[in-house]
Amino acid sequence: MQNTYPEFDGSQVCAQTEPDLWFPTSDRQTGRLAKTLCLTCPWLEPCFDYALRNDVVGIWGGKTERERSNIRKKRKIKPEPLYLDTLFAPSARSKVAVGRYNEAVDEVLND
Ligand code: SF4
Repeated sequence: MQNTYPEFDGSQVCAQTEPDLWFPTSDRQTGRLAKTLCLTCPWLEPCFDYALRNDVVGIWGGKTERERSNIRKKRKIKPEPLYLDTLFAPSARSKVAVGRYNEAVDEVLND
C-alpha cells in the first residue's frame, strides 16, 4: 500500500481518453466504461492503493468513491484528507503537473 502520489508518466489510460469519464455523475453511467478501461491500465495497482489511502474524488484504480469507501470500512482504513494535487482531472495526473501546481500555490501563499 502506498500513501504517496504515484509516479504517473503519461502512460495511464485516463491520460489518453476523455477525462470526464472518470468523474461520472452516477455509478451506472460513464463510470462503467472508466472502470473497464482502468482494468487495462498499467497503473491500476498503485493508483488503487493511493486512492484507498487518500480521500480523492472520482474513479481511481477501477473503483468509485463509494466502492473505495466500502473497502476501507472492511479493511479499517482511515483515508488521508483531500490534498490539492487530487483536484486535477485524471488526464493531468502527472508528477510534473502536480509539481507546477504546488509551486504556484506556494508562490501565492508566500507573497
Ligand atoms: S484512474 Fe488509475 S487505474 Fe484508472 S486509468 Fe487512470 S491511472 Fe489508470
